[in-house]
Amino acid sequence: MQTARTLRDLSCANDYDPNSLPVDQARAFIREFLTPVAVTERVHIRAALDRVLACDVESPLDVPGHDNSAMDGWAVRFADLAPDRDTTLRRVGESFAGRPFAGELREGETVRIFTGAVMPRGADTVVMQERAQETPEGAMIAKGAVTKAGQNRRFAGEDLKRGGNVFRKGQPLRPAEIGMLASLGINEVSVYRRLRVAFFSTGDELRSLGQPLGEGEIYDSNRYTLHGMLTRLGCETLDLGVVPDVPEALEDAFRKAASAADVVITSGGVSVGEADFVKDLLGKLGEVLFWKIAMKPGRPLAYGRIGGAHFFGLPGNPVSVMVTFYEFVRDALLILQGRANVTQPPTFKATLAATIRKAPGRTEFQRGVLSPGERGWQVRTTGDQGSGILSSMSRANCFIVLPADMGNVDPGTEVDVQWLEGIL
Ligand code: AMP
Ligand code: MG
Repeated sequence: MQTARTLRDLSCANDYDPNSLPVDQARAFIREFLTPVAVTERVHIRAALDRVLACDVESPLDVPGHDNSAMDGWAVRFADLAPDRDTTLRRVGESFAGRPFAGELREGETVRIFTGAVMPRGADTVVMQERAQETPEGAMIAKGAVTKAGQNRRFAGEDLKRGGNVFRKGQPLRPAEIGMLASLGINEVSVYRRLRVAFFSTGDELRSLGQPLGEGEIYDSNRYTLHGMLTRLGCETLDLGVVPDVPEALEDAFRKAASAADVVITSGGVSVGEADFVKDLLGKLGEVLFWKIAMKPGRPLAYGRIGGAHFFGLPGNPVSVMVTFYEFVRDALLILQGRANVTQPPTFKATLAATIRKAPGRTEFQRGVLSPGERGWQVRTTGDQGSGILSSMSRANCFIVLPADMGNVDPGTEVDVQWLEGIL
């Protein structure tokens, strides 16, 4: 496939239908336009948690640095052990973790050794203490206590070799990676700078917290959900408040957001009717495509660029905001943060416990509750699936993903579920 250079090129592709764009196609379009942040900063490894590594890391040392014991026991020369009877060896010293035995093991000798302690010179094998009996002179090693030389011994460099690659750039730094960096004696790493994400809500009916509600007015919840989801992803957030459906106010907000952030996210104002003047406005400020995604919830979605910023115009309904964020924005933000190998949250199969009603035509992301059943995982919906019912997201621990062409689904059917815990 030839690489499209502008959003307009893409939208002229033959298979492109902005009035019913399949979920996968929208994802693929978005991916073509994501350029990760390039600016890096050096931080202490404690501050690097959940950041993205900006350079390859090579090991400055062998880990472990020395051959050492994997057990509490007795360091021996394998050749000294008789294959057909117990063997008594003379104890000549001890090797503790951090306090090695200074001498060398000779024929018929043993050294008491503890986990992590350096293997004494001359010893090649460790017998676990349960297979030996301590005697006044040393240790009696049970017949067959070890079956080959080198047993219970960890080798220098068996985890990491000096000069070998440890991590590639783009690696997310989780507790395991932070621990590995520490084990290499590395206390500072280069990471990509945090992504700055500006967001605001649009709608004349929206009030901010602390204001009294007039008739027909509602509290703005989307900004708070977005703040939560963005914070979980490690983004720097810039909350620009509620903007009324007034062209001048919106223009102002878009300009301000785009000049201050890498990504601008709005909610509301992209549905039919409302979208018209927002469309004109964004056509003036940048390049934005308005899509009706063939999904439920979350049909209207706008994507494009305003100035130097990426733009996601999410629908207004609170559930649609969360679903479109999980399905489109999350991955995009991970890629923009510099992460390598970004994939969708994985789906797996579970058995449907109660009927789901669905009309063919759109991919549905129903809110589900996944629980262990008698024969594997089973799933049911949270009940009413209206896109304004945010409590359905709160009760859910998964999405039940029903493909576009599927109709009603009977109990007992295997369906795809996307586990939500830990994704954001
Ligand atoms: P819209 O996409 O602007 O037509 O909004 C669709 C529905 O979502 C309407 O019922 C809005 O009142 C509601 N809505 C829009 N924005 C928000 C918000 N920030 N918080 C809560 N509800 C909202
Ligand atoms: Mg609105």
